[in-house]
Amino acid sequence: MPQTALKGTPVVGGIAYGPALWPGERPVYRPADGGAVPEAERDAEAERFAAAAATVAGRLRDRASHSNGVAAEVLSATAGLAEDRGWVGAVKKLIGKGEQAPGATIAATEEFAALFTKLGGLMAERVTDLNDVRDRVVAELLGVPEPGVPVPDTPSILVADDLAPADTAGLDPALVTALVTRLGGPTSHTAIIARQLGIPCVVAVTDLAGVAAGTAVLVDGTTGVVEIEPDQTRARSRVEESRRAALAAAAWTGPGRTADGHPVSVLANVADGTSARAATAHPVEGVGLFRTELAFLDRADEPSVDEQAALYREVIDAFDGRKVVIRTLDAGSDKPLKFVSQEHEPNPAMGVRGNRIASVHPEIRAHQLDAIGRAAETAGVTPWVMAPMIADAREAEEFAAEVRGRGLVAGVMIEIPAAAVLAPAILSKVDFVSIGTNDLTQYTMAADRMSAELAALTDPWQPAVLHLVATVARAGQDLGKPVGVCGEAAADPLLACVLVGMGITSLSSAPVAAAAVGARLAETTSDQCREAAQAALAAADPEAARTAVAAIVL
Ligand code: PEP
Ligand code: MG
Repeated sequence: MPQTALKGTPVVGGIAYGPALWPGERPVYRPADGGAVPEAERDAEAERFAAAAATVAGRLRDRASHSNGVAAEVLSATAGLAEDRGWVGAVKKLIGKGEQAPGATIAATEEFAALFTKLGGLMAERVTDLNDVRDRVVAELLGVPEPGVPVPDTPSILVADDLAPADTAGLDPALVTALVTRLGGPTSHTAIIARQLGIPCVVAVTDLAGVAAGTAVLVDGTTGVVEIEPDQTRARSRVEESRRAALAAAAWTGPGRTADGHPVSVLANVADGTSARAATAHPVEGVGLFRTELAFLDRADEPSVDEQAALYREVIDAFDGRKVVIRTLDAGSDKPLKFVSQEHEPNPAMGVRGNRIASVHPEIRAHQLDAIGRAAETAGVTPWVMAPMIADAREAEEFAAEVRGRGLVAGVMIEIPAAAVLAPAILSKVDFVSIGTNDLTQYTMAADRMSAELAALTDPWQPAVLHLVATVARAGQDLGKPVGVCGEAAADPLLACVLVGMGITSLSSAPVAAAAVGARLAETTSDQCREAAQAALAAADPEAARTAVAAIVL
């Protein structure tokens, strides 16, 4: 038995075993170390700060130029923060009042971090990046080593309070074989980078501070259990088993079906033509969620029907007649669109977002449906079209009439608990539904999906969430209509077995997750899936659910 087992939120599956590696210390600066800067020296002090910020930005850009994909984007974005005019100006202003450069850097960052936190959503997520830039600039000013992850000489498990994007970007997965953090949620940068690197990742692990550097650690990215000093032989055999599963995933080519041949569509979530074409490199059968709003985040004006039709055509063409589920604009909350003007809302996640926008701007939804209809007609296909954030059967009926009027297949997302509870009534109005487990979990647990502190609650294995999913799946079976899952839950191979056991007919997620999900289903029978679903529904909490399902499926 392991001496200690810590528990966190699993983000990327797989098993890794190795010594714990902590990132370098953050620089320590005591304001009392220096008095006020004499007036005559303030310009020079501001120059010293500007040079330090430029050096830090330059280093990050240099690393970006030697990286690719998400790593390069993250490093460039962090470099951009070090050069942000607002932030640089705020630091210089404080120096102008006599603050030493390191103290001014810390104080100005605090102001910005408070502002970002207040803005919430994606801005709040940038606080970690901003603090990281602060630490790098302060280290540069103090002449101490830049904080960050040292390059280990043996494959290690990176353990940290939280990882700044610039720490995790560009890591070598051969040397850093897993990430474990005390903070961070399933949508944090740490999680995104771990997915990109394909290394196991567990976040929101409390009590990590006691894990000394060099201590042997076994990380299970599927169950979220982190064992400290486990039995070595057992740890090595678990790593071996996970390698075998990874090989099975690499060899899996689809289509999705259980070991006894029950079909389950394994689909991709995409955002535009580029991501759709990239998704075809993975063994997916089509698109289960095309998040159309993501293509228009930077647009000041509503794109014309022609322009929209061309974009939808790109995604349809990438999949060459195969299934494509297009979601109408999910504007609002964490994804505001400039051309969808909205009143200031104190609680935007529960405000006028998703399909609710149509009550204020009916023409925007109508134009979008016209564009989808045009793309479908010219391509000679019939895409499925669904609305986000549907709360009741009346909304579903109203949307379905608009969609069917254009000769398209009509569905809605089930993301609001009310819609899950009344799934039979909603399904009776549409041709299919797709469960958005990210929002369904957020609203069921009343826990912000962006919050690192609430990661244990925003876990789709929460029994209350699973019960709602089961209600929807049952309604689909009763009415003989497809019920998909297109939230992050569909990327978890173990949870995929549970969902299929409940009667879910398709699983759509980040394309990189498809192979592991498909390979796991291919090794699991329908009976095992049903048994797994029963076990998960009977469990008292996410940990018990994962353990019970792992015992049946693995
Ligand atoms: C969801 O809520 O699960 C979903 C798929 O939609 P989004 O993540 O875009 O809100
Ligand atoms: Mg959603």
